[in-house]
Amino acid sequence: VILKNSVQGGCQCGKVRYALKAKELPRTYCCHCLDCQTCTGTAFSQTARVAETEIDVFGITEVFEVISPTGRILRRYSCPNCFTRLYNSNSARLGIIALRAGTLDESNNLTVVAHIWVKRKQSWIVIPEEIKCWSESAPADEFSAVVGL
Ligand SMILES: [Zn+2]
Ligand SMILES: [Zn+2]
Repeated sequence: VILKNSVQGGCQCGKVRYALKAKELPRTYCCHCLDCQTCTGTAFSQTARVAETEIDVFGITEVFEVISPTGRILRRYSCPNCFTRLYNSNSARLGIIALRAGTLDESNNLTVVAHIWVKRKQSWIVIPEEIKCWSESAPADEFSAVVGL
């Protein structure tokens, strides 16, 4: 079922796979906030925004739902077998998913166009000067222009 000539990815065990309709890898951004460090278990999250209509998911995902302090509904989609987190959704951005970029097959070829919550980043991480950074979260429209959605 996997399409040829598309950007693909999936969970570690292979029970969930996905294909993007795009032929090129999406732009990604990194978030260094405590939440992202905790729920990824590593230094930061790396994310690509993708329109829901631009991704085909093959396999069943498990959904963890949490309500943010500001009342947004956040859903985290994972493989129910190996627990790899694949993507998130946020009721504040309907129709757009936040793909966990490390699940792309070609994650070694990704580029990062922005960093947010850099005031919380691990001190050894040095970000190139030309890359857009925000101390905390970025203004929505400014950020959308940089990350492409
Ligand atoms: Zn899996
Ligand atoms: Zn974060």
